Amino acid sequence: MKHSMILVALLAVAAPAHAQLGGILNKAQKIQDAKGKFDDLNVTEEEERTIGEQVSAKIRQRFGVVQDPAIHKYVTLVGTLLAQQSERPNLAWTFIVLDTDGVNAFASPGGIVHITRGALGLITSEAELAGVLAHEVGHVAHKHAVNAIRKGKAVQLGSNETLSSRGPFLDKIANKAYDIVLENKFDRNDEMDSDKVSWTLAEKAGYAPGKLADFLTRLDERNKDQPASNGLFASHPDMQARIEAIRKQAGSRNGAVVEARYKANVKYKPTPVTAIATVEDGASGLAGSSKAGDKKADAKKEEEPKKKGFGLGGLKQAVAPEKESAQVSASGGSRGVGPDRAAKGGSNPAPVKVTVSSADVAEFKRGIA
Ligand SMILES: [Zn+2]
Repeated sequence: MKHSMILVALLAVAAPAHAQLGGILNKAQKIQDAKGKFDDLNVTEEEERTIGEQVSAKIRQRFGVVQDPAIHKYVTLVGTLLAQQSERPNLAWTFIVLDTDGVNAFASPGGIVHITRGALGLITSEAELAGVLAHEVGHVAHKHAVNAIRKGKAVQLGSNETLSSRGPFLDKIANKAYDIVLENKFDRNDEMDSDKVSWTLAEKAGYAPGKLADFLTRLDERNKDQPASNGLFASHPDMQARIEAIRKQAGSRNGAVVEARYKANVKYKPTPVTAIATVEDGASGLAGSSKAGDKKADAKKEEEPKKKGFGLGGLKQAVAPEKESAQVSASGGSRGVGPDRAAKGGSNPAPVKVTVSSADVAEFKRGIA
């Protein structure tokens, strides 16, 4: 009820004429019926996915995708097992391995989780992988990106925008969500919340639940000589507090570590943080992306006034020229961001499609022991 009240208030501003309002309300009701419940930003689940697809397209363009179905299938099996235990098991959960030495993981709204080749190289067991993926599942399940935009009031439905022209509105949310996801701008409470989801889902799936803490400890140790905040969970100086909280909550609980299967499936080796090739600041909209990146995107939009809606095609066009101009530098060349976030990526952004049946997941689960 609360949501439809908000909707009515917005539409009343948008369309003062009563006859018109009735028509729009009917239409809004139809959209609401067709797309499901509105969340606090008046974004439907379907729209949330559309935003997530846009964010994912940009992330894939930025880092490339490992064109290997086997590694995608393995990560998808672990991720699906966890996502099925989450509060949103029915999203179209998708797991993508990014082609970069940088250590990172990104959760796009709507259920698209990305993890880098570099992260897989640093992880030592399936339980650790589960811990990292489940943390990202937590960001999605609790809508942290969209909620952060709502809380920050960074994007609001303009007074002349109605539900029939939501493309520009959703574009704005997607651009903002990309910044939040890429630069890991979740606040401390959301990080702690996702940590809790992490060990909870890992335990439900049968894994030793505190292994995220082991991974974060290794990451912290690896990054100890890095001057700038760097990569995964970068914006949080209180890493030790998080590690302690996870250990306190989950440390004594039992579960499987599953080292052998991880090592059989993941052959990547970690790249020393000082040896990671990076791209120049701003070359691909990474550091200060909200300025350089958006300006380019806006300029592109002006060139294409008839760009319709918010499809992936239009977005790709806006991102691709930036990618082409990206220049590789020696490691640590970027200002203000660490080498993980500035890491050079692969050249192929195409998603790798893998199919995982419920029988596959059930069989995979039997290997957690
Ligand atoms: Zn996080």
